[in-house]
Amino acid sequence: MLILVNTTPIFTTQRLIVDTKANELLKTANMVSASLSSLQSLDTERVNSVMAILDVAGDVRMMVTDHRGYVVYDNAAELPVTGRALVLSEVYAALDGMDAFRCAYRNRVFESVAAVPVMYNGELLGTVCFFDADADTAELLTGIQRYMGNITLGVLAICVILMIVFSALFSKRLQKLSKAIRTIREGKYEQQLEVGGHDEITELVEEFNDLSGRLQKTETLRRRFVSDASHELKTPLASIKLLADSIIQNPDMSIDDTRDFLGDISDEIARLTRITDHLLLLTKLDVELADSAREYLDLSDVVHRAARLLKPLADERGITVQVDTVPECIVEAAEDPIYQVVFNLAENAVKYNVDHGSVHILTYKSEGNVYCLVDDTGVGVPEAEMTRIFERFYRVDKARSRETGGTGLGLSIVKQTVEEYGGKVWAESRQPQGTRFVVSLPYRGAEVGLEE
Ligand code: ADP
Repeated sequence: MLILVNTTPIFTTQRLIVDTKANELLKTANMVSASLSSLQSLDTERVNSVMAILDVAGDVRMMVTDHRGYVVYDNAAELPVTGRALVLSEVYAALDGMDAFRCAYRNRVFESVAAVPVMYNGELLGTVCFFDADADTAELLTGIQRYMGNITLGVLAICVILMIVFSALFSKRLQKLSKAIRTIREGKYEQQLEVGGHDEITELVEEFNDLSGRLQKTETLRRRFVSDASHELKTPLASIKLLADSIIQNPDMSIDDTRDFLGDISDEIARLTRITDHLLLLTKLDVELADSAREYLDLSDVVHRAARLLKPLADERGITVQVDTVPECIVEAAEDPIYQVVFNLAENAVKYNVDHGSVHILTYKSEGNVYCLVDDTGVGVPEAEMTRIFERFYRVDKARSRETGGTGLGLSIVKQTVEEYGGKVWAESRQPQGTRFVVSLPYRGAEVGLEE
């Protein structure tokens, strides 16, 4: 590139000089030729007489030949070649009736030759030749050449310096990044690097910060999950131990009391089983949801199935369950997980309801989504805890949740499943009492040939 920048102006200038020279010399040669054409033949005497009148610049050597190419006039002050044959391709071209010009840049001099024919009534009388050796213009060209060379060297030096500076900065930033990656490998996720600039490294640093942020978040969640899970598992285990110890330490315990204690132990074991089942389900959810075969299902059918199964539990407490659905609420999901979502919400609506309350489940389609609403007339959720209830093990009323056999994991399973299928779930307060849970999933009717 630099070579091109350097040589192009030189070549252009050189061509310009040659063109100008050709123009000038051929023009003057033609002018002389026109003056000589009035002579009927060219000999030294006649030509000298014409030349004496013409004012041709003295620093250009001029020769005139006759029709055979023999010099009849030479304006050289020293050693004129009059009488000799002028053996030059340009002269031969002129003797053939053509204008000829040649220019060469040699030893810092522009050497030009121009030859034109001298004609009289269509007959060739001879030729006019000009020889020019231009050192001044050549000097100018050499100056430009030198100047361009210096500029090129300067640019080259600046480029090298910039390259060294940039690569030093570049490698420094890369070193910082790789150091941070090493620290992450050691398990310290709280790495955030400074972002500056708009280049690829900046993009890399942003990606890195994003990744370490996510790792940090996942790690915090993991730790909290492990500690919550151990705590949740410890409580029933402690109860079992206490109950079992009581039986062992009281050999005189009545058979009825022993039965009661064993019944409590059995309840706690059932609770432990539920918690571990839910925990297993949650940990497997990521992989299983991604792996399980999805199909196009009608959410309304799933709602009816869940409501049917829940009826006995609702009847026990005089709770009415009303279902209103529209057909063709098509979603793309695996059936079991989506059934689990509806069932968990409906079960909660019964569990956290008042006796003789009501549950209303409805489905509808709107703006490219399918909605499932689960309304209850239950105890409600305080406004500040509306989003927290979806966290793992979070319960508004621990005692009530325990009483109803809750694990605090149902809603997190719901949230994880719905989000995996590209949907959303949230809770709202109802007036005068109760809670509404809303699930929205993308409508996939078009995929099975139904209307948008
Ligand atoms: P649990 O096993 O305790 O029911 P969930 O994750 O299903 O766990 O629910 C978390 C908490 O959210 C419950 O403990 C309860 O406090 C609250 N909750 C869930 N559904 C309802 C509801 N329909 N009405 C009132 N509170 C609810």
